Amino acid sequence: MPQIDIFDTTLRDGEQSAGINLNTAEKIEIARQLERFGATIIESGFPAASPGDFDAVQRIAGTVKNSIVTGLARSMKSDIDRTWDALKGAEQPHIHIFLATSPIHMEHKLMKTPEQVVEIAVESVKYARKFFPLVQWSAEDASRSDPEFLAHIIRKVIDAGATTINLPDTVGYATPQEYGAMFKYMTENVTGIEKVKLSAHCHNDLGMATANTLAAIENGATQIEGTINGIGERAGNVALEEIAVALHIRKQIYNTETGINLHEIKRTSQLVSQLTGSLIQPNKAVVGKNAFAHESGIHQDGMLKNPLTYEIITPELIGDASTELVLGKHSGRHAFKDRAVKMGFDLTEEKLNKAFIEFKKLADSKKEIVEDDLYVLLTDQQIHDTETPVYKLESVQVQYGTANIPTATASAYNPDGEMVNEAATGAGSVEAIFNTLERIVEGKVHILDYRVTSIGKGRDALGEAVINMTYNGETVTGRDVAQDVLEATAKAYLNAVNRQIIQTGQKKIKIPAI
Ligand SMILES: [Zn+2]
Repeated sequence: MPQIDIFDTTLRDGEQSAGINLNTAEKIEIARQLERFGATIIESGFPAASPGDFDAVQRIAGTVKNSIVTGLARSMKSDIDRTWDALKGAEQPHIHIFLATSPIHMEHKLMKTPEQVVEIAVESVKYARKFFPLVQWSAEDASRSDPEFLAHIIRKVIDAGATTINLPDTVGYATPQEYGAMFKYMTENVTGIEKVKLSAHCHNDLGMATANTLAAIENGATQIEGTINGIGERAGNVALEEIAVALHIRKQIYNTETGINLHEIKRTSQLVSQLTGSLIQPNKAVVGKNAFAHESGIHQDGMLKNPLTYEIITPELIGDASTELVLGKHSGRHAFKDRAVKMGFDLTEEKLNKAFIEFKKLADSKKEIVEDDLYVLLTDQQIHDTETPVYKLESVQVQYGTANIPTATASAYNPDGEMVNEAATGAGSVEAIFNTLERIVEGKVHILDYRVTSIGKGRDALGEAVINMTYNGETVTGRDVAQDVLEATAKAYLNAVNRQIIQTGQKKIKIPAI
């Protein structure tokens, strides 16, 4: 069966979406999981954007071995140089260069003539090929470009040495018929196109990203780009797990293979949701909480007689088997370490010791520790960044009663290592905590969004809080987990503030989504 390469851009296009900001440790953790998931290529960031982005791309390239790692660059020498510096140590250095080709983008954004655009594209690809064996060139806004001009510029960049041509539906405007026709036109009208990989990149503004991507595959695409859970700017990118499962379940129709390890879908999806703080809608295809729930009586009856009556995908296929009690109060360090290794974690002894202490604390208050709890606990240790001095919660206490004014008191260490104690009231317990912490962090805080969810099932499930805020004018998202939701809330609040502190001083170049 012909192979479709999966190009994951969760860490670049996904990370660009509103309210998502991952630190380097989190990006590395996601990249490691994407490698297990079986992504052919991982787009790890935009090295020229900031020193932090550069560092993340470089470290991912040094960590991931079974997937190709790429970085995004604008069509300019300085971006290409920077990307090379970040990726020269990679197993197979790969660069992703882009330039807009639609009349509206060329005229109003680039302010260049089509001839000038061709020249810039050719020059940048030629320059990149001096360093990189693999050069992907993207025609930004391809779906709204003139097909003849697009064919012309593609011919030129292939001659210049491009090894992959990507035709994005940047604004999510194309229909499946149109998008498929564009791929067919290029395969029929560009000499030399059979020598390169042809890639699709779809956005979901009209809810057609999956359909458009499949249309591209039917018409000659050999690589598809997307993100886990479909995260991304505006309505997001195509969800890779949907494409992987669709190609698998309907292989008689598509007759292709992706190399994706379908059993890793659930875990990959959960990790991305957890670390980005973006929830998955319950009815989301493949990974939604209700994707396998059958409520109707007729369905349930049929399912009992034969699951195939209504079930086209099984939870087992995507690695969503029901997890049993795995460890308990009396489990020792050895059993804990064993389990962590089996679950794919590779922690240092120091981090493992800390995780074990956290596990013991949790086991004291929670009867059954299931795999979901362990994932959260171990992931939190893995991504824990101790280098930069930040705020650390020591304690929080809330007095609440229906008849009195909610009051919170909190103690925390500030970045200078001094203990600060504050108290404040609020209309409710959460607001009282917010008001107290705002005094501690000495900055202007504006809460944009706040959510509490449970991890796993049962009345003693862990609580997770996600807070999206602006702190000193910058938008950040913080998250944390605790047995009690109010403690999780206080920790998530400081987590958001800490992210802003770590990011400060890092000027970030904002790039348009491709
Ligand atoms: Zn995009």
